[in-house]
Amino acid sequence: MIETQLPLPELAASELRLLIGGERVDAASGERFEVLDPATGEPLASVPAGGEADVDAAVAAARAALPVWGAMAPASRAELLWNLGTRIAELSEELATLEALDNGKPRAEALMVDIPLASEIFRYYAGWVTKIEGATIPLANGLPFHVYTRREPVGVVGAIIPWNFPLLMCAYKAGPSLAAGNTIVIKPAEQTPLSALRLADLVEEVGFPPGVVNVVTGDGPGAGAPLAAHPGVDKITFTGETGTGQKILEASKGNLKRVSLELGGKSPNVVFADADLDAAVEGSYGAVYFNQGQCCIAGARVYVHEDVHDAFVAKLLAKLKAVRLGSGLLEETDMGPLVSAEQAERVGGYIDSALAEGATELAGGGPARLEDELAGGYFVRPALFTDVTPEMRVMREEVFGPVGMVSTFADEDAVIAAANDTNFGLAAGLWTADVKRAHRVAAQLHAGTVWINTYGFFDVAVPYGGFQMSGYGKELGAEALDPYLQTKSVWTDLS
Ligand code: ADP
Repeated sequence: MIETQLPLPELAASELRLLIGGERVDAASGERFEVLDPATGEPLASVPAGGEADVDAAVAAARAALPVWGAMAPASRAELLWNLGTRIAELSEELATLEALDNGKPRAEALMVDIPLASEIFRYYAGWVTKIEGATIPLANGLPFHVYTRREPVGVVGAIIPWNFPLLMCAYKAGPSLAAGNTIVIKPAEQTPLSALRLADLVEEVGFPPGVVNVVTGDGPGAGAPLAAHPGVDKITFTGETGTGQKILEASKGNLKRVSLELGGKSPNVVFADADLDAAVEGSYGAVYFNQGQCCIAGARVYVHEDVHDAFVAKLLAKLKAVRLGSGLLEETDMGPLVSAEQAERVGGYIDSALAEGATELAGGGPARLEDELAGGYFVRPALFTDVTPEMRVMREEVFGPVGMVSTFADEDAVIAAANDTNFGLAAGLWTADVKRAHRVAAQLHAGTVWINTYGFFDVAVPYGGFQMSGYGKELGAEALDPYLQTKSVWTDLS
């Protein structure tokens, strides 16, 4: 077993309290809830059960901090963001352990993806703080006015965070929010609040002014809903399920707060006959099963050309059979547990539904929760289905677990139509050696991101976000600043 950098006793003793207005406080109710280790089902720590009163206090603190944050020199604000990114990088080992403990993901993956990208996001947006500019606009009618625009922060941002990439999603929201001059209230997912509370420690350590970043732990109805409905919140940024996104949108109506939604997906991944098959198998494995399949971008609808279908499936199956399930803290683990018992049950339900609807199971099966030495943890074996039809639930709804579906196709137009037969539009992948086909098909796929001969790559500079019911409001890149800014036009009469 990897030495945990943050052994449990130390974790339990660390500052697992809310951050509101620069103070570490308990929930107003005094209540706490237990965070479970998904690999064992045992309690890991307890954190405050924040509620409406805590959300009120955090929003008030964020509001009070706005003028302070706005009055700081942009270069000084940039330095704080940069330093936060640096501290995250310096604490990579510890933070990766924390994510593996809390979420269940393999620690090596957190160390490769979650933590470095979170660090880079703060440093990348540190660069933007000093580059937010308006324009001088010559009037179309030629009248003598001097008109310029200012790009101003929207104000107080509420960030509602999912459990699949806990720290990374905090960075997705906080990086551009803070760079644009907003203050923020972060509400981590109740399943995985530990890294957000550790982030709160780092925010204090690097010296952000009190109230610029606030962290309120709590569940969806208790803390998320009051944040989404709060009249003092100017914008909500949310990543999570489409249904929850719709509730948040509904709750935002009261003060017409701005909302960005990064929601579910049911992404297609298309393998043409001329693809490098080994690369396509490797990439498709990652597309479906990375992070135990708990990725919005999961390319779980795999379409393989009929000429290479059998070879593709044989190779993918061989890979799946070799997958070692285990605690995310073990070096040899390929796949950790799902995040919660509820999620394991839900994924088990989808596996059952595929079987009941007539799909053929090539890998996986049995009860979703294992009865062997991993019993107690929320493990689900990776499942692979063929003989799937477009109406099946597993082909239409987001499973958010290690479940892949392989279909065959004969021609390009048919597979484009099949790939686009979804209400979602987050991502898509395609594998081919034909560069003309690659770009022709990429242009026709309804998805916010298309990967050609790869899958799942992210870079802080590249915008990411969905079409259709996968939501709106881009994250990452320069474009991610837009939802956190509002433009003011200023007119001066020169006549
Ligand atoms: P899941 O059901 O898998 O936990 P969600 O999309 O519901 O996924 O959760 C993502 C985030 O949304 C979590 O932080 C959760 O607490 C929060 N949340 C859940 N329900 C609501 C709600 N009604 N209003 C605001 N936030 C919510």
